[in-house]
Amino acid sequence: MAQIPADENARFDAIIIGAGFAGMYMLHKLRGMGLTARVYETADNVGGTWYWNRYPGARCDAESLAYSFSFDEELEQDWNWTERYATQPEILKYAEHVADRFDLRRDIRFERRVDTAHYDESNNRWRVTTEQGDSASAQFLITAIGCLSVPALPDIEGLDDFKGHRYQASLWPHEGVDFSGQRVGIIGTGSSAIQAIPVIAEQADHLTVFQRTPNYSVPAQNFPLDQNWVDAFKKNYRGHRYNQKHGLNSGFGDLKTEIAETVPLAEVGDDLSDAEIEAGLEERWERGGAYFMNVVSDSMMSERTNARFVAFVHKKIRETVNDPETAEWLCPTSHPIGTRRICVDIGYYETYNRDNVTLRNLRKTPIERITERGVLLSDGEVEIDTLVLATGFDAMTGPFFNIDIRGKNAQPLKEKWVEGPRAYLGLMAAGFPNMFMITGPGSPSVLSNMLVSIEQHVDFIADCLTRAARENATKIEANLDSENWWVSHVNDVANDTLYPRGGSWYLGANIKGKPRVFMPYAAGVGAYREICDHIAAQDWRGFEFSA
Ligand code: NAP
Repeated sequence: MAQIPADENARFDAIIIGAGFAGMYMLHKLRGMGLTARVYETADNVGGTWYWNRYPGARCDAESLAYSFSFDEELEQDWNWTERYATQPEILKYAEHVADRFDLRRDIRFERRVDTAHYDESNNRWRVTTEQGDSASAQFLITAIGCLSVPALPDIEGLDDFKGHRYQASLWPHEGVDFSGQRVGIIGTGSSAIQAIPVIAEQADHLTVFQRTPNYSVPAQNFPLDQNWVDAFKKNYRGHRYNQKHGLNSGFGDLKTEIAETVPLAEVGDDLSDAEIEAGLEERWERGGAYFMNVVSDSMMSERTNARFVAFVHKKIRETVNDPETAEWLCPTSHPIGTRRICVDIGYYETYNRDNVTLRNLRKTPIERITERGVLLSDGEVEIDTLVLATGFDAMTGPFFNIDIRGKNAQPLKEKWVEGPRAYLGLMAAGFPNMFMITGPGSPSVLSNMLVSIEQHVDFIADCLTRAARENATKIEANLDSENWWVSHVNDVANDTLYPRGGSWYLGANIKGKPRVFMPYAAGVGAYREICDHIAAQDWRGFEFSA
C-alpha cells in the first residue's frame, strides 16, 4: 500500500483521535452534520481494542447482539453474529464491515500516532501533530482513544533477560502463536488471562499460571446462536436497545431471555432467605454472564449481600477444581466480588484439572526475577519456553497522558489531572475548550457495555455542537464549578458502593505512583443518560458557549 503523504497545515472542523468504535461512529455522525473531520489512528486498520487484543480466546464479555451499533437499523438487521459472545476476529470483521459500509476509511489516516494536541487561544483551534509528520488544525478535538489502550508491563526484574519467546496479551502477533510442544508460563489472572488460559492449555505441552491475586469468574455459557431466535430477537431490536440504554444492567441487556433486562429478585439481599438467594445465584450461574451480580440490587452496596455471593462462587470453585489446595488458591479473598471487573470464562476453573496445568501462588512463593530460562520464584526456578504477559493496562488516564495535550494557557492535561482525572460528565475538562472525550474518566465507560456508552457520548457531543452552531457559538467550554460538582458526585457515588475496596485498575491501583481515584461513574448508564439529557434540556447547564 502506497504511503499516504502527511497532512500539512490541513484544516478540519474536527480531528478525532482513534478509529475504534468510538472514532468510527463519531466520524460518521459528523459527516452527517456536514462537518469535515480527520481521524488519526495508530494501527493500520480500524477496530481499536479488537485490533490489538488478539490473544488466544479473546472475545467480548457483553453479548454480541448487545455489543453492536444501534444507530443504523439496516446494519443491525443485516449483520449476523454467530455466537452468544463474539470472538475477537468476528468483532474485528464487524468493525471492518462498518468502516466499509459507511465509507469511513477515506477520512482516516492509519499508522499515525498523535503526539501533540495543543489549543491555540488566538484562533480558537486545536493543532494536532503526529509522530509521522502530520500537522493539522481543527475547531474541535475529539478523543476516541479507548480506556484500556496502554498496556502495562509488570514491574518484575529481569524481564528482558528471558531468552525464550515473550508475548503480551494486548499486543498479540497477527499471525498467531503455536504453543504446541512448548512449556508456557503466563503472568496475570485478570479477564485477558482467564480467557487465554483454557485455550493455551489445550495446545501447550505444559502451562504454568503465575497468580498473584485470584479473580472471580462466572461461566459465559456460550453457544452458537440459533437463527430463529435471532430473527425473533431482531423483530424487537428497538425494544431491546431501549432496555440496554435505560436499564439497570449497564447496557449489557440479557439476551438469553425474552426480556432484555434481568429483573433483580429483590432490592435488598437481606429480604431473601439463604435458599432463595442460592436459587437465584444458581439460576444466573447456569444462565451465564456478568448479570450474575444483578440477582439482587444491592450486591455492590451491601457487604453482607456481597459476602453471600462470594460464598457461592467459592463453593462453585471448590466443586469444580479437583485439587483442594489449587481450589483454595483460586478462591479470591482480598476483595468483594464485583469490585474488580468480574471475569466471564469458558472452562477456566475446569482447566486446573488438566494434568498439563500448574497453578503457582505468588502470595506464597513470589517472583524474584525473570531469568534467561524462566521465572525464578522464592522456592526455585520454573523453566519455560514461552512467557505470556497478561498484566493489564494503565487504564483511562494512560491513553491521555500518552499524548501531549495542552489547553488554555498551554496547561498540560497531565498537570491538571496530577491528582486524578477531572472532567465534567467525563466528557469535557474545564480549561480545554472544544475538546470532548468519548467515554472519558467520570463517565460509566468501563463499567458498562462500551458500545452503549460510546453511542450515547457521540450523540451528546453531536447535539452539543448543533446547539453551538445554532447560536453561532464557536467555543464550548465546561464550567469549572460544574466540573467540580461532577467529580465530587462521581466520588460520592463510588463511595456509596463497595467498588473502592477492590484495589483495582478502576482506582489506578495497578500502576505505581498513580493517584488512587475511582475513575468510572458507578450509577449506571440509565442514570447517567438521564442526567445528560436533563443537562441538555436545561440549555446545556455547565457548558459555556461563546463566539
Ligand atoms: P487486569 O485485569 O488488570 O489483570 C492483570 C493481571 O496481571 C492481574 O492478575 C495482576 O495481578 C497481574 N499482574 C500485574 N502485575 C503483576 C506482577 N508484577 N506480578 C504478578 N502478577 C501481576 O488486566 P486484563 O486481564 O488485561 O483485563 C483488564 C480489563 O480489560 C478487564 O478488567 C476488562 O475490563 C477488559 N477486558 C475485557 C475482556 C472481555 O470483554 N472479555 C477481556 C479482556 C479484558 P494483581 O491483581 O495481583 O495485580
